[in-house]
Amino acid sequence: MLSGKFKTLYQRLSGTIDKKRIFHDPLYTLALGTDASFYRLIPEIVIRAADENEISLILRESSLLDIPVTFRAAGTSLSGQAVTDSVLVIAGSNWNNCHISADGSEIRLQPGITGGRVNALLLPYGKKIGPDPASINAAMIGGITANNASGMCCGTAQNSYKTIAGMRLVLADGTVLDTSDEQNKISFRASHSKLLDEISALADSVKDNLPLAERIRKKYKMKNTTGYSLNALVDFSDPFDIIEHLMIGSEGTLGFISEVNLKTVTEYPCRATSLMVFPDIEQACLAVSLLKSSPVSAVELIDRAGLRSVENEKGIPLFIRELSNDACALLVETVAPDKTVLNENIDRLKQAISTIPTETDIRFTDIPAEYELLWKIRKGLFPSIGAMRRTGTTVIIEDVAFPVQNLATATLDLQQILRKLGYDDAVIFGHALEGNLHFVFTQDFGSPREIERYGKLMSEVSDLVVNKYDGSLKAEHGTGRNMAPFVEMEWGKEAYQKMKEIKNIFDPSEY
Ligand SMILES: Cc1cc2nc3c(=O)[nH]c(=O)nc-3n(C[C@H](O)[C@H](O)[C@H](O)COP(=O)(O)OP(=O)(O)OC[C@H]3O[C@@H](n4cnc5c(N)ncnc54)[C@H](O)[C@@H]3O)c2cc1C
Repeated sequence: MLSGKFKTLYQRLSGTIDKKRIFHDPLYTLALGTDASFYRLIPEIVIRAADENEISLILRESSLLDIPVTFRAAGTSLSGQAVTDSVLVIAGSNWNNCHISADGSEIRLQPGITGGRVNALLLPYGKKIGPDPASINAAMIGGITANNASGMCCGTAQNSYKTIAGMRLVLADGTVLDTSDEQNKISFRASHSKLLDEISALADSVKDNLPLAERIRKKYKMKNTTGYSLNALVDFSDPFDIIEHLMIGSEGTLGFISEVNLKTVTEYPCRATSLMVFPDIEQACLAVSLLKSSPVSAVELIDRAGLRSVENEKGIPLFIRELSNDACALLVETVAPDKTVLNENIDRLKQAISTIPTETDIRFTDIPAEYELLWKIRKGLFPSIGAMRRTGTTVIIEDVAFPVQNLATATLDLQQILRKLGYDDAVIFGHALEGNLHFVFTQDFGSPREIERYGKLMSEVSDLVVNKYDGSLKAEHGTGRNMAPFVEMEWGKEAYQKMKEIKNIFDPSEY
């Protein structure tokens, strides 16, 4: 039963929004409240929004009542950013408009279309979107852009931040801004000059602070989704460009993305993949640094425990079961416009790592059924581990990044922490080319001892990532509830204060 300000909000919204799309009964709010993270919060109200006018109304009325609003696209987020105990607004599969430019170089999208569907539409143009999370067939454009999600190939060069070409958004006061529409920008300048001036002043203050500006530039050479995209303040001067780029990775906390223009990237027709196996993690990481300057599109690391977790799956090469205890694999992909270049690439890759010992011969396959199986296994690692967990435990995936030159030692350090704290089932894998590692483990939150063990793990890992390697605590999964308490630790007081100022400019009531 709704009460207080939630009741008032319901009354104010239900005059305009169809009551059949506003849920507040316990069953629906429980069922719709869940995302892919391990957090459980039950929203007071869930609204399936139909269009931008409804979003404006919801945001305006919620702001007036000081009620926090959380958006949801597909709800595959892992850090707890798509759950709330307040108001959840779902803009999912009905927000699926899409317009491709004549040459396929740009695409304008609503937030509820999945990345997989977008890529299927772009395929005839030989194009795809840059961001490539493993969840791309479920994840939607709203979540992909608001999380600045990335994946196996996109790195820091082709993520939403780098490929955005325009955005239509709804601010907390309900105003619509379209950065691709000059007329809209003129009106916005007239109505929101204070906001634009504050954004410009903030950006100037960061640019003038040379050590801070340098630190921001350095940190974004690595994948980083911890906190707001501070690079927007150093990379751009036009406040509209800054706003558009700040929205990327803002996890719905600065406004609602109702449309986005993305520049597309080339989808090469020829691909070859190799599952290379090295005697240990150190040799594998050494190979990664040699591969970095070769024509690779993806290098994914899978440790022995990860290989073991999939060795009995259908189609997995039998030799995986026979590997030594410390073996570590790299799944390496190269792409090319034609077969000749593809073969040249393969030769160059083999040459690049010829000094590193391997446990098995290096073999590339360009047969789609074979390489698709290898990638399916890699993409399925996290769900496979989740499926094996003991009842009553939850599966947790962490998402850190180290400077790639430190990847070998950092991975060994990480392994040591996991072993010391008894996380014997932990699996390490990830986008090695970017120094971005995931570690997955099962956690029981049922006893104070287990909670304490988890606390120790988080604090030792944060110390390792931040203090020893100056890495990212969340490389691609977004900050969420999970990393919010650690943003200041990673970025330091000054940068964190700038993030608070950003929030205050967009949404003063929430400061
Ligand atoms: C099996 C699995 C594999 C994954 N692999 C990867 C991976 O390889 N790389 C990676 O980066 N992530 C990965 N993820 C995490 C997640 O899938 C991605 O971050 C994805 O982009 C989230 O998209 P979504 O549509 O589910 O967003 P949601 O979870 O619905 O929302 C994500 C965030 O965006 C906000 N949001 C949603 N819509 C809007 C909007 N219209 N306007 C403003 N804010 C909005 C939400 O409030 C939330 O903060 C994986 C998840 C799973 C379960």
